[in-house]
Amino acid sequence: MKTVYSAIQPSGDLTIGNYLGALRNWKKLENDYRCIFGVADLHAITVRQDPEKLRERSKKLIAIYLANGLDPKKSIIYVNSHVPEHAELGWALHTYTSLGQLNRMHQFKSKIKDNEERANAGLYCYPVLMAADILLYDTDLVPVGDDQKQHVEITRDIAERFNGIYGDTFVMPEPLIGKMGNRIKSLQDPTIKMSKSDPNPAAYILLLEEYKDIKKKINRAVTDSVGEINYSEDQPGVSNLLEIYQSCTDENMEDILSKFEGKGYGDLKKAVIEAVENSIGPVRDKTNEFLQNEDYLIEVAHDGMIRAREVASKTLERVYEKIGFLRGM
Ligand code: ATP
Ligand code: MG
Repeated sequence: MKTVYSAIQPSGDLTIGNYLGALRNWKKLENDYRCIFGVADLHAITVRQDPEKLRERSKKLIAIYLANGLDPKKSIIYVNSHVPEHAELGWALHTYTSLGQLNRMHQFKSKIKDNEERANAGLYCYPVLMAADILLYDTDLVPVGDDQKQHVEITRDIAERFNGIYGDTFVMPEPLIGKMGNRIKSLQDPTIKMSKSDPNPAAYILLLEEYKDIKKKINRAVTDSVGEINYSEDQPGVSNLLEIYQSCTDENMEDILSKFEGKGYGDLKKAVIEAVENSIGPVRDKTNEFLQNEDYLIEVAHDGMIRAREVASKTLERVYEKIGFLRGM
């Protein structure tokens, strides 16, 4: 059975982009693959976090995974910082990564845009840690959105370099690109993706957002002055709303377009509000239920940690052996 690795950072509350583009698809993977789902807290600290909030969000993320229907008996659900092998392999892999490779990463560039103060060395080296996350579990497939494709590519480059020097050590991972809902855009600037770390809360809808706030944000979403509902690059705001609608309802775009033919933006927004609520409402309610049961969340994370370390420690040992570190003493 092939192995799938995926993780979300507890760097902010999840948006519907994270849900529609990533999380929702994970459930379908559980039946066909050995799945490992991480709470990427080690990555989250590449941007300064409030300690209490980070803890709360990490817990919430476990609850969201469970609310989404992931089965902790089947899949490994765990928190990255509970598995020290991530940092250990991460360090080793830094020495097999060139500066040129890191300089080419888009995400770093876009995250420090307008604010170089934020750029710590961890943010710059983030892709190396992500490579370690993936390689530790002999991952075959990494479900990613377009924003993360480059990360899988650099992981492959690093693995290839290492394997080239020492012989087969790492399994070569491949990206698994979801069929739909890949890129939900910001409601305020539909040329960039919706992101949970966006400083403007009007830009995103949270997965756990209440109905009244969903309504407010969609009603305020940027459209245009064309006045017609088309799915086109020239109308990025309207097209984004159409895509959100499509992701939430699973209807095909042609049917959606004929449904809204001759209608106004107000009608579209109203329909999107209902579609979003129908899609995320049940997850929100279940997450709140799981959050009431902290003992269970701790149990899930603990069990996940033990199972994750079983795999990760073997990979790390294999790597240390090849590198030439003293073993068995
Ligand atoms: P950050 O701004 O902190 O990077 P993020 O919203 O990009 O937050 P990540 O933790 O980086 O979230 O990504 C988690 C998963 O969500 C990834 O698989 C990513 O591809 C997916 N994802 C993120 N944003 C979107 C989006 N707008 N549309 C669809 N999928 C998304
Ligand atoms: Mg991101």
